[in-house]
Formats: sequence, C-alpha cells, structure tokens
Amino acid sequence: MTIPRPPSSSPLSRARRIVVKVGSALLTDADTGRINRTWLETLIEDLLRLRRRGQQVILVSSGAIALGRRQLGLAKGPLRLEESQAAAAVGQIRLAHAYKELLESRDVTVAQVLLTLEDSERRHRYLNARATLQTLLSLGALPVINENDTVATAEIRYGDNDRLAARVAQMAGADCLVLLSDIDGLYTADPNIDPGAAFIEEVLKITPEVEAMGGRSASEVGSGGMATKILAARIAVSAGCHMCIAAGHHRHPVRRLEEGARCTWFVPSATPVAARKQWIAGTLRPAGAVTVDTGAQRALLDGRSLLPAGVINSRGRFERGDTVSVLATDGTEIARGIVAYSDTDAAKIMGRKSSQIEGILGFRGRDEMIHRDDLVLLNAEPAVQESVGS
Ligand code: GLU
Repeated sequence: MTIPRPPSSSPLSRARRIVVKVGSALLTDADTGRINRTWLETLIEDLLRLRRRGQQVILVSSGAIALGRRQLGLAKGPLRLEESQAAAAVGQIRLAHAYKELLESRDVTVAQVLLTLEDSERRHRYLNARATLQTLLSLGALPVINENDTVATAEIRYGDNDRLAARVAQMAGADCLVLLSDIDGLYTADPNIDPGAAFIEEVLKITPEVEAMGGRSASEVGSGGMATKILAARIAVSAGCHMCIAAGHHRHPVRRLEEGARCTWFVPSATPVAARKQWIAGTLRPAGAVTVDTGAQRALLDGRSLLPAGVINSRGRFERGDTVSVLATDGTEIARGIVAYSDTDAAKIMGRKSSQIEGILGFRGRDEMIHRDDLVLLNAEPAVQESVGS
C-alpha cells in the first residue's frame, strides 16, 4: 500500500532518504532501565509510514550502554571506558533483538550496522560502508545503526550518536536528518538556566553566534548535548542534508513533526548531489587522469556516466574512490569525478564493454568508470540531475 505524501513543504515530507536518530534517554525507561517499548512501537510505525510513501529510512539508535549497564548491574554514575564497552556488548544484542521483533512482525527486514569513527574517516572504509548502506536500502531492508562501542577505544570513538548520525546521513546521501532528543530545538541560551531564552525555528547559516548557543565547546562535551548537535548540523548541511532537532518523548514523534510540532531546522544551501559535486570540483590535486574518446565526451556533456568503453588512456596512480580528471583527446580537462576502479584495473577494462568487466577483473564492480552522480563537468555544468537509488 502506498500512501500519498502530505502537501506540506516540510523537508521531512519532501525527503527521498531520511536518517532518524534516537537517543538512549528516549529509548530506555529511566526507572527500570528497560526498553521503552510502547513508545518505540510508535516510532517504528512512523518510520514504516515514511517507507510506505516511498521514502527510504535509516535509523541510528543509541541505547546499548544504557541497556547493558542495567543487565550487568553497574552502578549509576560515569562508567570507565572498559565498563561502557562491556555494557555495549551486552546491551547491543538486546537492542538488536528488540528491533528485529518489532520490525519483522511488520514484515520489514532489519539490518544491523555497527560503525566506528574510522569507517567514516578512512576513504576505503567509508566507501565500503556507503556501498553496504546503498545495497541494504535498495533491497528494502531498514538499516539500524549504532557505534561499535565494544571495539571503539577512547581516541577513535565518536562517543555520541549525533555526529555518527550526521556522518551516516552524509555517507548515505540522505536529504533529511532528524535528531530526536529531550529538547524541542535550539534556543538562544540554555532554557533550563535562562528563562529569557528564545526558540529558533530555522538556521540558515551556522555562525559563531549559533555555535555559542550550543554552550560548551565540542571538546568538552561527552555524549549528546546541544554542542554536539550543532557539530552534527555542520556535517549534515555541508553534505546538502536538512537537519532538525526535535523533541522525541511523545508517542509518534516523527508523525508529530509532520503535523507541525515545533522543532529547529538547519537548512543546507545545496542538495546532497550538488554538495557532493561542489566537493569533487574543489579537489585541489586529482590523483590521476583518464582520457576519453569523442563519443564518451558527448555522452558526458549530455549528463551521462563515463563507461569503461569510452576511456582510451589512464595515467597517474589512483585507487577506487579517488578524484581523477577526465581529459578530452586534446588534453583539456573537461570533467572531474570519483573513479570506481584503481589505475591498474582501469587500464585493464578501458575500451571494453561493461558486461566484460567481471570476466577481465574476476569481480563484479560498477558498470561505470565514473557514475554521473560522482562526476562534475568543468565550465559547462548543466542543471544538476539526481538519479534516484543508485
Ligand atoms: N552508542 C551509545 C549507545 O548505544 C550512545 C551514544 C550516545 O548517547 O549518543 O549506548
């Protein structure tokens, strides 16, 4: 059953791919330390409602440490790193179990993805995680993501799921990120301390004043807090993704947002594809170059992808995921893009049909040498075209 999207102009209703983040305080009951199941069911129903409208959904869920510490009988108060890692090991399995039960009883396949900071900071791991997320979404699964707290040591951990969620949104090319929190949005000052604090509905630019509203500097902040949410907003909007901070403790927290509940939106200046293209065009030193024939050059100008068949030469040392220049036969740089093959593999498949790639390389990679979403034409960029689901 497909239900129509409301005519509302909310970025949430318009979005193609949405990341929703829920924090531990919402997910677990403070008194019993157990999963807040009735509430969670209403959240799941909201997410499935988005999916029925054709929107893709990724859930970033905290709660592992909170659930595990109760099970292990760890006292209240701050935990040592190894204690929180132990708690996460115990809690994550319970969390995954709850999602599996809730989603599979509604005929949705749930996928657990545990990430570390390195998965978003190292290019190879970033590309792998990105490809996995794309594949899960295209196969109709609902990815539920958390930090891999059990292995992430102090120096290499996010520690908070706000920034993790923003990285996930960036990785997945999402156009909307919703941080469900215990506060309904951003205020000019902490409303718990300053009764005169004013609510901010929309942030078009993250200025130093906006950052100051978040309170303590990022380095002092542990988990959650407004400062980490503003850092998350920075990541999201620079990737072309709208982000909102909204109160999550009511039932059906996402539906409430669409029904007009108060929240703060951070607005990007570009779409995810345009933001990615700006980033590609701005690469200072492409790792290498591929020369294309005139047929391929025409195809690129028409907004199509670069196929191996149109490549006649490759130079420089590059890996999959590096930015390379695309040159015309006279040597002028006509485009830049993120290449799907290393220089050695590119040399083997250039001039060949995409259907031959597997036979030549022994694995099935992408059909395109550079996908059009990863390609930016220099000087003659036509209107940005977004290709859905690839
Ligand atoms: N990854 C942590 C957990 O699952 C939560 C981090 C956070 O609260 O933002 O317990």
